[in-house]
Amino acid sequence: MYDEGITRVFKGRLVGLDSKMSSSNFIKNIVIEDLAAGRVKEVVTRFPPEPNGYLHIGHAKSICLNFELADEFKGRTHLRFDDTNPVKEDAEYVEAIKRDVQWLGFDWDGLFFASDYFKEMYERAKLLIRKGLAYVDDQSADQIRETRGTLTQPGIESPYRNRSVEENLDLFERMKNGEFPDGAKVLRAKIDMASPNINMRDPVIYRIVHATHHNTGDKWCIYPMYAFAHPLEDAIEGVTHSICTLEFEDQRPFYDWVIRETEMPHVPRQYEFARLNLTNTVMSKRKLKMLVDEKAVDGWDDPRMPTISGLRRKGYTPEAIRAFCREIGVARSNSVVDEQMLEHFIREDLKLKCLRTMAVLRPLKVVITNYPEGQTEWLEAENNTENPEMGSRRIPFSREIYIEQDDFMENPPSKYFRLFPGNEVRLKHAYFIKCEEVVKNEAGEVVELRCTYDPETKSGSGFTGRKVKGTIHWVDAAHAVPAEFRLYEPLITDGEEGDDRSFLERLNPNSLTKLQGFVEPGLKDAVPHDKFQFFRHGYFNVDPKDTKPGQLVFNRIVSLKSSFQLPNK
Ligand code: ATP
Ligand code: MG
Repeated sequence: MYDEGITRVFKGRLVGLDSKMSSSNFIKNIVIEDLAAGRVKEVVTRFPPEPNGYLHIGHAKSICLNFELADEFKGRTHLRFDDTNPVKEDAEYVEAIKRDVQWLGFDWDGLFFASDYFKEMYERAKLLIRKGLAYVDDQSADQIRETRGTLTQPGIESPYRNRSVEENLDLFERMKNGEFPDGAKVLRAKIDMASPNINMRDPVIYRIVHATHHNTGDKWCIYPMYAFAHPLEDAIEGVTHSICTLEFEDQRPFYDWVIRETEMPHVPRQYEFARLNLTNTVMSKRKLKMLVDEKAVDGWDDPRMPTISGLRRKGYTPEAIRAFCREIGVARSNSVVDEQMLEHFIREDLKLKCLRTMAVLRPLKVVITNYPEGQTEWLEAENNTENPEMGSRRIPFSREIYIEQDDFMENPPSKYFRLFPGNEVRLKHAYFIKCEEVVKNEAGEVVELRCTYDPETKSGSGFTGRKVKGTIHWVDAAHAVPAEFRLYEPLITDGEEGDDRSFLERLNPNSLTKLQGFVEPGLKDAVPHDKFQFFRHGYFNVDPKDTKPGQLVFNRIVSLKSSFQLPNK
């Protein structure tokens, strides 16, 4: 939403802008106003993950917002690891996060670690002590919680609140030197125990933790709390717009207090937006880590995980994720987005790019009794009916083929138009076949069909003699390439209203189905991350972890159809 004057001011900067990127949102409007008023010279945003797990689709929303916002105004975005809690953080997560941000298509303009600022944070905390704005408290964590008060009642002042500056400086120094065990003392900001905002009731800003930090090793045994560290990190880096999720709205007064009272020369501003929630999706690193630790999934990149690495392994593209993030937009009210919207964007992205081929997931052998033995013909098949530029390929057809078990019923209901005894169907790209005989094993299961074909009905020959209602897919048996197919359902399903089972109790036992079937011979040399549309089954990705030479594994990214419609489209 640019008014004329502002458009003029930013004319140069808006040139070459991807129009899809420029949909308006309230944070962008703030940026435009800040630039126009000269309050901000260069937009600096940051994406500040804690390296305590892998990134998920919710983080993608924040990544797209921060990077695209700065990009649009020729600003900068920092990737900053918010690594102030040594117990939960790990270098493995740092590397995974870097990989995922890059894969999503973003280059940071600086890589930072909050832990590199520990010295400065420590100095700023001492400044607060000297100003009489922080004190060492000997109360336990429980006592501090119990005396914090409630929304209707003020908190109770700590008996240690009025220690002298000298005593506080001495004790804080000794905390830093490792003289006290974990939990023995904390440093608290001295603000107002009666503040209507509980976050302003003398929040803890430093605690003692004797643990090895992934970056600073054993150098420190006191660590700043998030609420104190975060504004300092933003100020040190010159961040102009510090964008976080709505839960931090009540923290904003303390954020501003820290910047002001520690006398930081640069003043960043915090803005809050609604976090992404998706139906049937758990989105918290802590919970996702439990699934990994409990071995409920095959690691962080299990295709059922809503992690960036899981989505990538499943077959999602960065383009689809970015388009999804743009569509959901940035608002200030929390809502739950239908997971089908994400699926919509991967279908849109792949529909004109992928080879459309045939794969049989649950094979049933068909022998075409009137087709000459030993003969193979190569049939012309279009590669993508919606994108003629993709050309065509040749697929073999001979006496024995595989069809889908579901495409045959011995005793079909009415309106079943696929194969049943005496019925005729079209084989995609090939001929009409008619089911003449059903072969069963001793257990009475159908193991083979014997059919006849009509040479007059060849696909593309212009045959109009008669019509059939069903078209089914198939793969030539002699040339078929064996493959495993993995079909997914939500890992964790939303319960009905009022369902108070924990997320671990809502694990879907059918979240993964593995099938052994066949693909066309042309797919023999497919490599990890090759993507295909399999006729009638959906889009599939060659699994990068379990595919081995001669052993193809395909992950279903998404089925072909859904009733989902984008709102107002
Ligand atoms: P989690 O609870 O999953 O660990 P977090 O908010 O603690 O999430 P951080 O690593 O601290 O994770 O987050 C980095 C950034 O990503 C933060 O700015 C945070 O606001 C943002 N973020 C995290 N989850 C979401 C989400 N679901 N939607 C939008 N932004 C998110
Ligand atoms: Mg977190």
